[in-house]
Order: sequence, then structure tokens, then C-alpha cells
Amino acid sequence: GFLFTRLIKILHIGGPGSGKGTQCSRIASDFGFSHVSAGDLLRNEISAGTDQGEWILEIIREGRIVPSEITVELVRKAIESSTAKRVLIDGFPRCEENRIAFEKITGTEPDLVLFFDCPEDEMVKRLLSRNQGRVDDNIETIKKRLKVFESLNLPVVEYYSSRGKAHKQDSVSRES
Ligand code: UDP
Ligand code: MG
Repeated sequence: GFLFTRLIKILHIGGPGSGKGTQCSRIASDFGFSHVSAGDLLRNEISAGTDQGEWILEIIREGRIVPSEITVELVRKAIESSTAKRVLIDGFPRCEENRIAFEKITGTEPDLVLFFDCPEDEMVKRLLSRNQGRVDDNIETIKKRLKVFESLNLPVVEYYSSRGKAHKQDSVSRES
């Protein structure tokens, strides 16, 4: 079977528009990580036009969190099909339930958790000007995403902080 314990796993957590995707792509290519973006995996499902994809679209449109059984499966499959020995998971887990489900399925914990700290007004500014054609980059959905981030995603960062695994990074004034 597949051995998650042999992999180096880094999680990248940050609010919507904090720059996770951009930074993860860089880290992945600079340090030889396989970049697994949970949001991209979900958007791939939507593009595939399946019934499950339609359902995911509705959840993303409302800024809610897709049920763990779906996301954990997508992330697990993406990791298993990669050949890299190091994996960088972008934008997941989104809540304690996601975290617990993932740790249970893989039987492992991440080695490191990077937390991108970004002020809300900066995130809103970036989301509204990035023009990627995303269904969730409108002010109404953005407000919901920010609430979900604060109430459900931040507790995951706190959990990993308490285990000495979280590293906070300033995502505003970083060097290029
Ligand atoms: N999402 C989810 N579970 C995940 C990752 C993403 O439910 O593990 C959904 C959620 O609705 C979120 C959206 O996908 O608001 C976009 O996530 P992504 O990380 O791509 O966007 P970001 O928050 O970085 O703008
Ligand atoms: Mg992203």
C-alpha cells in the first residue's frame, strides 16, 4: 500500500486571497515539492461536469466547506498519484473535521504547517482585483469566506501551533 509516513508533508493555510497558490507554486518548484491545491482539485471536479461537480459548485459559490469525505479523497488520490517525496498541500484542511478525517485516513500528521497571515482588507482588495473569473470572488461570497476562515480554518492553525508545528509568515511584505 501507499506509505504516507514516508512522505514529507507541508500544509499551507491562509485566508482567501492571502497568496497561498502563488507562494505554493514557488516553493514547489524551488524545493521539489508536489503542489496539491485542494481548491484546484475541487474546481477540476466542477469542470468535469459531473453531478458531484454541480454540487461542489453550489458550495463554493456560498463560500462553505465541501464535506470532508470528498476533499480528503481528492487530496489523497492526488498525493498517491504523485511521484514526489515531498508534498505541499495548499488550502487544506479547512476545518477541524477536515483535519481529523485526513489524519485518520493517512495515519499521519504534517511535518510543518505554514500559516499565511494577511490583514482582511488586503485579502479583500486582492480578491476583488485578481480577475480569475472565479464564481466566489464577489464581495458577498468573500464576506462569507472570511467568516468561515476565521471561525473554522483558524482553529486548525491553533491546533498545530499547540503542537509546535505552525509557522506564521507575513504575506504582505514578502521579498520576491
Ligand atoms: N474548499 C473547500 N475545501 C478545501 C478547499 C477549498 O471546501 O479543502 C472550497 C471552499 O468553498 C473555498 C473554495 O473552495 O472557499 C476556494 O478555495 P481556495 O483555497 O481555492 O481559494 P482561496 O480561499 O485561496 O481564495
Ligand atoms: Mg488557492
